Amino acid sequence: MPELPEVETVKETLTQLIKGKEIKEVTITWPKIIKRPDDQEAFRTLIHGQTIHEITRRGKFLKFHLDDLVLVSHLRMEGRYEMSDGQEADKHTHVRFLFTDGTELRYRDVRKFGTMHLFEKGTEETALPLAQLGPEPLTPDFTPEVLKRAFEKTTRNVKAVLLDQKAVAGLGNIYVDEALFKAGIRPNAKASTLHHEELVRLHQTIVETLQEAVDKGGSSVRSYVNSKGDMGMFQLHLYVYGRQGEECRNCMTPIEKLVVAGRGTHFCLDASQKNKC
Ligand SMILES: [Zn+2]
Repeated sequence: MPELPEVETVKETLTQLIKGKEIKEVTITWPKIIKRPDDQEAFRTLIHGQTIHEITRRGKFLKFHLDDLVLVSHLRMEGRYEMSDGQEADKHTHVRFLFTDGTELRYRDVRKFGTMHLFEKGTEETALPLAQLGPEPLTPDFTPEVLKRAFEKTTRNVKAVLLDQKAVAGLGNIYVDEALFKAGIRPNAKASTLHHEELVRLHQTIVETLQEAVDKGGSSVRSYVNSKGDMGMFQLHLYVYGRQGEECRNCMTPIEKLVVAGRGTHFCLDASQKNKC
C-alpha cells in the first residue's frame, strides 16, 4: 500500500503531468470507487469542465484542487494514476479523465479498493475521510506531545496506534516498522507504557524515516511506481521491512517477522531487548 512518501511522489509526478488541464469528460467503469456523491452521473456532471489547478497530499490521500471542487483520492492497496499511452484501456482501468487537450489520465486499480470523494472546495477537511486524520508528520504540528496524547489513554500496542491515522497521518506498515526499529521500540509494546525519552526518539525516527523516503522517491515494494512509471529507491535503505531472516544491519541478528495489529511486522529482537542494537 502506498504510504506518505509514495503518495507524495505520486503527487509530484501528477503535478508535472496534469496541472492546468481542463477535464472534458470522465468515464467510470467501476462505480464503487466513487464514494461521494454516491451517484456516478452526478460525479461526472459536477467534474465536467473543471480545471486541475493544484495537487496536494493529506496523509495518504491525494487532493486534486479544481475550480470550485476538490477531488480526494485514496490509492489503498494497488491504485495507480497513469497517462494513457494511446492503447485501449485494460480491465483494471476504472476511471478515465479525458482532457480538452486530447490527453487522458487513467486510474487503474487491480484490487478495486481505492476511493474518490468529491467535495465543494473548503468543505473537504471537515468531512470524512479527511476529518479523522491526525497531524501531518512532516510539519511542526507533529510533536512528541502529539504522540504522548495518543498513547497515554489506550490499551492498544504502539503499532496499532501508529497505523490508524488518527494519532499521525500517512504512516503504514513499512514506515511504522522502520521508525520503531530505529527508535528501539517493540511494535507490540503497549503504547501507554512508553517513556518520555522513547516518545521523543520515536517522533524523531518517524520524521527522519519519512523525510529520507520522500527524498528517495518512496519505496518500490510490490508494484509501486510513480505516475511516470519510475521506481522509488528507498527499498534499498530499509532496515527491517521485508528483511525477515536476513541479518540486522546493526547487530547481525536475523530480523524477526510476526503478526502485530493484524499486520506482518518486522523487527530486530536484539534492538528491542537492549533498546538499541
Ligand atoms: Zn539488530
